[in-house]
Amino acid sequence: MWKLLLKQDLTAEEKQAIIDRTTEYYGKHLNPGFLKYKKSSDSKAIEWSGTGATMVDIHGRRFIDCLGGYGVYVLGHRAPEVIAAVEKVYRRIGMYSQELLSPFQAELAHQLAKLSPGDMKYTYYHSGGAESNDAAFKIARLATGRHKHITMSNSFHGKTMGALSATNRESIRKPFEPLVPGFIEVQWDDLEALEAAMSDEIASVILEPVQGEGGINLPSDGYLKGVRELCDRHGALMHLDEVQTGFGRTGRWFGAQHWGVEADMMTLGKALGGGIYPISAVHGNERAWHRLEENPWWVTNTFGGSAPACACALAAIEVMQRDGVVEQAAAKGELFVRLLREAVEPHKHLIAGVRGIGLLIGVEFIRQEDAVAVAKNLFSKDVLTAHTINNPAVIRIEPPLIISEDEIRQVVARFTACLEECD
Ligand code: PMP
Repeated sequence: MWKLLLKQDLTAEEKQAIIDRTTEYYGKHLNPGFLKYKKSSDSKAIEWSGTGATMVDIHGRRFIDCLGGYGVYVLGHRAPEVIAAVEKVYRRIGMYSQELLSPFQAELAHQLAKLSPGDMKYTYYHSGGAESNDAAFKIARLATGRHKHITMSNSFHGKTMGALSATNRESIRKPFEPLVPGFIEVQWDDLEALEAAMSDEIASVILEPVQGEGGINLPSDGYLKGVRELCDRHGALMHLDEVQTGFGRTGRWFGAQHWGVEADMMTLGKALGGGIYPISAVHGNERAWHRLEENPWWVTNTFGGSAPACACALAAIEVMQRDGVVEQAAAKGELFVRLLREAVEPHKHLIAGVRGIGLLIGVEFIRQEDAVAVAKNLFSKDVLTAHTINNPAVIRIEPPLIISEDEIRQVVARFTACLEECD
């Protein structure tokens, strides 16, 4: 039966068989909750293919993807150059021997060092953002000999025990407490609060340059620079979580570049694998890395930085540079935000604000129920979106950076129709 999933042209009966088995097995073997609690979409829609900024379900229904896998599809679905690279790798090598040196790991680390701001130049690879954040906490503890971390209100850093300890969202933390000790929450975007919490016990301060799951919250001018200064004054490492904001999403390679700030460590994930292969990374400078030579295996893992993963990232970087994808994200983001602001103007009683940077955009509703209703209605009009994890009143608009202007205008037209129907 599973071979049907590889078949190109399915008959109506075969489609129905796949739908029936998928929904049955989600309930029996994954979690029936996935079928019950989908907020934005029809819980029985089955993904089948994707191309560019379009996601297609098993019936051939085409969605404009404004969710982008929560930021994974910077180059859209199945970027041809990324697929070509990984196919070539697979004809020669599978994953990683764990013993010989990997030329792919070396080449990607070199490229990241060239792209990243400041003096960051070392990299360790993992498969997910949370894992890389966990590694960064360990690196900070090693480098400073301290064991406390400051984290921001409304932050999201992942769901492993370490990353969750830095994530300040009550509903996803509470069932798992006590979490890892030593994580101190301070108010986001408040330098006085940070200064008050700083001490010579702090190993690192972790923050997103723009809070993604917190509701697409931009920092005030001067905030990130202020964090940098406080870290320097107290000997703590500045750790920027660029898992969602990195790799072009905001119209710069890394989000913090908008504010001219250079961190000691930066974590990357999501888009890094070109939308084809999971790969994440912790990237840092000498200050962060200096103890790791003693035992380079302190923060390694089995799958991170396999040949196919690194090849995808390398191909993605090349295409993004060749096509000016990052610059395009800045221009398209400006257009998208402008059109959305015009669209919400007659519906001010529903909307608290439209904000964004590059193609990381949030539309905040006054009432959470309206955000949920509009996201669902957008789905019925063939646009994929979802609310942000920590702030369900905000619908995120996070399409592939290669989305066309025509597609942007279509999304805004359908969004406008949803607002009219919400009135
Ligand atoms: N950090 C940030 C800023 C994120 O947005 C996310 C995922 N939404 C993560 C970390 C966790 O990444 P992953 O799901 O790959 O563990």
